[in-house]
Amino acid sequence: MFEQKKRVYRFGGKTAEGDGTMRELLGGKGANLAEMSRLGLPVPAGFTITTECCAEYYALGGGYTEELKGEVAAALEATEELMGKKFGDKKDPLLVSCRSGARSSMPGMMDTILNIGLCSETIPGLIEKTGNPRFVYDAYRRLIMMYSDVVMEKAEGIEPEDGQGIRQQLDRMMSDLKEAKGYTSDTEITADELKDLCEQFKKKVKEVLGVAFPDTAKTQLWGSIGGVFKSWNGKRAIAYRRIEKIPDDWGTAVNVQSMVFGNMGDTSATGVAFSRNPATGDNKFYGEWLINAQGEDVVAGIRTPSPLNEATKTDHNKHLVSLEKAMPEAYKELDDIRILLENHFKDMQDIEFTIQDGKIYMLQCRIGKRTGLAALRMAMDMLDEGMIDEKTAVMRVSPSQLDEVLHPILAPSSEKKATVIAKGLPASPGGAVGQIAFTIEEAMKQFAMGKKVILVREETSPEDIEGMRVAAGILTTRGGMTSHAALVARGWGKCCIVGCESMKIDLAHKCVSFGEMKFKEGDWLSLNGSKGFVYGSQLDMMDTSENPLFIKFMALVDKYRRLGVRTNADTPEDAARALKFGAEGIGLFRIEHMFYGKNSDLPLAKLRKMILSNNDEERKNALQELEPFIKAAVKSTMMIMDGKPVVFRLLDPPLHEFVPTSIEKKRELAKDLGISVAEVDKRGKHLHEVNPMMGHRGVRLHVSFPLIAETQYRAIFTATAELINAGYHPNPEIMIPVTISGRELSFQKAICDKIKLEVEARFQMNLKYVFGTMIEIPRAALTADRMARTAEFFSFGTNDLTQMTYGFSRDDIGTFMGDYLGNKILDNDPFQTIDTKGVGKLVEYAVLSGRSNKPDLKCGICGEHGGDPDSISFFNKIGLDYVSCSPFRVPIARLAAAQAAIEQSS
Ligand code: PEP
Ligand code: MG
Repeated sequence: MFEQKKRVYRFGGKTAEGDGTMRELLGGKGANLAEMSRLGLPVPAGFTITTECCAEYYALGGGYTEELKGEVAAALEATEELMGKKFGDKKDPLLVSCRSGARSSMPGMMDTILNIGLCSETIPGLIEKTGNPRFVYDAYRRLIMMYSDVVMEKAEGIEPEDGQGIRQQLDRMMSDLKEAKGYTSDTEITADELKDLCEQFKKKVKEVLGVAFPDTAKTQLWGSIGGVFKSWNGKRAIAYRRIEKIPDDWGTAVNVQSMVFGNMGDTSATGVAFSRNPATGDNKFYGEWLINAQGEDVVAGIRTPSPLNEATKTDHNKHLVSLEKAMPEAYKELDDIRILLENHFKDMQDIEFTIQDGKIYMLQCRIGKRTGLAALRMAMDMLDEGMIDEKTAVMRVSPSQLDEVLHPILAPSSEKKATVIAKGLPASPGGAVGQIAFTIEEAMKQFAMGKKVILVREETSPEDIEGMRVAAGILTTRGGMTSHAALVARGWGKCCIVGCESMKIDLAHKCVSFGEMKFKEGDWLSLNGSKGFVYGSQLDMMDTSENPLFIKFMALVDKYRRLGVRTNADTPEDAARALKFGAEGIGLFRIEHMFYGKNSDLPLAKLRKMILSNNDEERKNALQELEPFIKAAVKSTMMIMDGKPVVFRLLDPPLHEFVPTSIEKKRELAKDLGISVAEVDKRGKHLHEVNPMMGHRGVRLHVSFPLIAETQYRAIFTATAELINAGYHPNPEIMIPVTISGRELSFQKAICDKIKLEVEARFQMNLKYVFGTMIEIPRAALTADRMARTAEFFSFGTNDLTQMTYGFSRDDIGTFMGDYLGNKILDNDPFQTIDTKGVGKLVEYAVLSGRSNKPDLKCGICGEHGGDPDSISFFNKIGLDYVSCSPFRVPIARLAAAQAAIEQSS
């Protein structure tokens, strides 16, 4: 039933069967363990079971093929040979770890089991061999804790109530013991106490889970392999995959590796390090370590770890001893390894190491997750150092990381005036202001109500992933810079402070205190994630787009981009902001937007008057009053964009949207029109449509009422002429919305040209403009060759084009989109990412067919997809000339366009 293939790849002894390119098959961890072995680094021997076996495991309903069993046995034998010990041996037993490892890293989302192989048969031998019973029982109690949690509870699908998980119950037993003995640290527990604790642990496991803890090395090994496979479909792994868009069918590999021990005493240690600072990008070796500990202690935030070296000490940890001071030789070797690894992989590395009796071992290396700011700094530094070339530098910052760089920080002026109420570790930079939530449920509830939330927790476990996602900022009492909370928050660019030890949470009373100050759920906090400062009030925020590094990087981005980037803007303020972000023009100025929001009262009153006009005479009068408002709006924006193209789109929405509903406004209107309120109601009703999105809107209005079109054309041409007279260089483009045919377009073009002549005569000058159409109805796309006879440009309105192609109402899609995504009927929401198979085909066809009639036809897009990186990649591929998006997305669109160009040219 299963094909012949290699299922297990060995590594260790400075050689390996796999290598760093085999991420798909070996997972990121397995591929890099192989690569490190090949580089001659000290990697404890072991083997990787491929990701393909994960699918087999599920296909077999949780079982293993005979081939896999055989290959594991052979690889285990090879490992035993390299390590000079045997798994399950009574005298000198080999212990192994079992770790997950998907193609792309999912920190902390899947499970790991350490110290596999400890059982009644092997424990006495190991004690004899090491002469260190404390170490052996410490290792055993860890095995019981991890195995019972991962294999016996989670993998069995048992979902205990909050706080009643087996791991938590065992944790409490250990805390109780420490408290009874007056110990503050785990390392104070004696060998006899640990031995006793292990017996009690096993009893508890039997009592809670109804199954005895397995007492043979083999059972433990295969149980662990299955447990890791099953953790691929654990709750938090699934939630993380959804968020990060990792496909469900990738599966995880399983790495079985000989154990080395950081918990053998004071010449042993364990740590996690980054070849550069993952929060700021500083080129300094950065990390955390714990003496006499196993790896999970560092990442789980159980003990506050010490800094790796003197150069990266902070106020927060300056009293702790660095590895550089405590074990200078091991530190030196580790520092050499980080340089070697960075030069080899040409990117920042995240490494896990263990020191056993003074000797360094490498347990993992991978490309390190980083904040947007760090990504930017590293890309530019590595370019300057000659480590990477320009294209690579452009590819090193993802659009979402750039978005994060543009994200606001606490306004320094506001911060200056406020008092810091607590300090923690600056785990992920930027600022956050929000209201306190103590639980994931509360955070999600508050978020759903549109509130900004600061998630306040003792520590965050990977189970908290969804609450962390919705929080504006995260604040925890425990944990270090490499704790899961820090890693995950950094990956998302979310402001996060960990290890804020002066904070005391009282969950029972839903309050938190910082010294004398007390806060309840819902109270405001502000966080500075770059410094680790907590403020007990609601501070102001500001954006950071003036960062010189950002400007330098964007210049590089523009060098490699082909697509133009314009903006959708309808006010001088938005236009100015977009210019600052590098917009090359306006791709969509929606005329109707002057009738919404700030300063819209007067023009809206005139528009309403026009809408409710009953005959041409009334309409003409109303339009005459309206025209100066349109001209002023058009003129002020063209002035800001001087010399750059501005696409003005004629009124688009169905008119009844503007009919007044309040009695005062109806009265005002009645007075202005010289009619009764009852007549206002009657005329308003007359405009009602059953299906307004497909109703009397866009070009159709201008076909029925050419006067409305004339007014807009006249406003645009007059503004243009006046600006030329004032020494400006206006560059108007006029765009007709929701068109369906070439004839409809010619009908409008004739009106437009007539008005142009009229204005030219009035101003005694020649005016230039470009005439084009939106393509947002499938028929327009399908008849693009004919549209192109009149249109000089197409701008794809992919919001409506998606609506009309799917027949999904863009305004009501929320009611069932979740069902389509959840059932995998759709991969993405087509209103967010262009549907390349359907809507995208129409766009591609329209471009080709339009250009077959007019080779220099300019094609752009102004739907929301213009700011979406995946969609931009598609638009680059099919040869559009530009994308247009909201001002804040402009830098992201520039980067996405450059990355698409680089990727598609290679
Ligand atoms: C569109 O339909 O894509 C578009 C840009 O127009 P609007 O969103 O205004 O309908
Ligand atoms: Mg539209």
